[in-house]
Amino acid sequence: MTDCIFCKIVRGEIPSRQVFENEHVLAFHDIQPAAPVHVLIIPKKHIASANEMQPEDREVLGEVLLAAPAIARELGVAEGGYRLINNCGPDGGQVVYHLHVHLLGGEKLGGLNVKHP
Ligand code: AMP
Ligand code: ZN
Repeated sequence: MTDCIFCKIVRGEIPSRQVFENEHVLAFHDIQPAAPVHVLIIPKKHIASANEMQPEDREVLGEVLLAAPAIARELGVAEGGYRLINNCGPDGGQVVYHLHVHLLGGEKLGGLNVKHP
């Protein structure tokens, strides 16, 4: 998936404001933040959406989720709390087809029936 925008970010071909990196995971600030803190956590491996997650991705996916509290602590929103969102497919509002988890925080967020961030 060479023309995937998030793969390009992983390869350093598109700049991003990175906040976290390890062997399997990269996280960077969303370019259009929907909250004071809005970070995208992605697997470095190209997985198009939640529908494409495979059992062999178990470790990578675990690392994606585990990055969230580390990033939240780093950005000072762990105590106040935050929201993790994955948009899957057209009805889920997915725009970029490289799996990512939105970490939103830094303010009291609205109800669960949020519009697509
Ligand atoms: P989704 O609708 O869940 O697919 O979310 C895609 C998100 O990626 C949106 O919140 C965009 O603002 C964000 N986004 C798109 N391009 C970039 C980029 N180059 N750097 C950071 N965030 C981006
Ligand atoms: Zn990709």
